[in-house]
Amino acid sequence: MKHDYYKILIEKRISGMISDSELHELNEHLKSCEECRHDLEEAEKMNKLLSGYKYKSPEDKLWEHYKSNIYAKIERGIGWIFFSIGAIILLVTSTFYFIRDFLLDNNVPIFIRVGVALLVIGIVILLISIIRERIFFNKNERYKEVEK
Ligand SMILES: [Zn+2]
Repeated sequence: MKHDYYKILIEKRISGMISDSELHELNEHLKSCEECRHDLEEAEKMNKLLSGYKYKSPEDKLWEHYKSNIYAKIERGIGWIFFSIGAIILLVTSTFYFIRDFLLDNNVPIFIRVGVALLVIGIVILLISIIRERIFFNKNERYKEVEK
């Protein structure tokens, strides 16, 4: 007879409708009752199985995938914006200081100034070339994917 009461508590626990005092009561009973412990395990297994099928239809999964894709894109977009702004600020200020404190500093021998200036210009040209190639390459890859 008393077990029936605990079966109801098990149902309540599974559906999340159980109160704290009832949960305490049930836990106390479970310590000493093998049968109810088993019932609870079975009910939890069943619940997992059911909720797995019920709440995640293929459409839901597709929608979730789509949503996480969108979030990832937004995150990456925001990341790139901050990155670009930071890079531009650093580039502009460091170029300014480089010209003011190094290229226009008469204490530094002219050959070193010209050498470093050419070096920096060379590196910048190489970087731009690499980035341009990378972008072109990416576009090409995407184009190929569309063609298939
Ligand atoms: Zn029991």
